[in-house]
Amino acid sequence: MEAIEDVDYLVVGAGAMGMAFADALTTAADVSVAIVDRRHGAGGHWLDAYGFVRLHQSSAFYGVASTLLGGGRVQAEGPERGLHERASAAEVGEYYARVLARLTATGRVVFHGRSAYLGDRRFESLLSGILKYQQALKKIQTAALN
Ligand SMILES: Cc1cc2nc3c(=O)[nH]c(=O)nc-3n(C[C@H](O)[C@H](O)[C@H](O)COP(=O)(O)OP(=O)(O)OC[C@H]3O[C@@H](n4cnc5c(N)ncnc54)[C@H](O)[C@@H]3O)c2cc1C
Repeated sequence: MEAIEDVDYLVVGAGAMGMAFADALTTAADVSVAIVDRRHGAGGHWLDAYGFVRLHQSSAFYGVASTLLGGGRVQAEGPERGLHERASAAEVGEYYARVLARLTATGRVVFHGRSAYLGDRRFESLLSGILKYQQALKKIQTAALN
């Protein structure tokens, strides 16, 4: 088992909840954050959804606080004419990829994809085997561990 450089926060799950936490943490404070997820990227279950599946609510009210999802457009035709746009799964996936790229570009966020959190600050990476943070100061678990 390999020890890796410590972080202030360890966020389990890069779905909507984990990404909102990581975004808020790094916006509000000068802290380092590691995000661990079994999937290859950010977005949680949206990465597995058919592309045509859409949000139930307006895009503008979904996602992380720092970055608008969609263009704030109002639909001009169809049964939802006059209502705000609702992003498709493909758009939600692209959005979270963009947010994750922005977060990691700050140098304060590291993402461990294809990695299953095992508890006790340990996770198993498909590429690197079992890794452990020695002293992540805080752990935020946004996903029911399964
Ligand atoms: C069709 C559809 C439309 C929806 N529309 C809306 C909407 O408009 N508004 C709204 O608020 N909600 C909506 N939802 C609900 C949606 O579930 C939430 O918005 C949100 O995506 C859930 O995010 P999450 O982070 O809680 O969970 P998830 O998306 O499930 O993410 C959890 C992540 O944690 C990871 N994980 C779990 N256990 C481990 C582990 N041990 N180690 C590593 N990683 C782990 C998983 O791999 C996963 O990527 C919709 C859902 C569906 C299906």
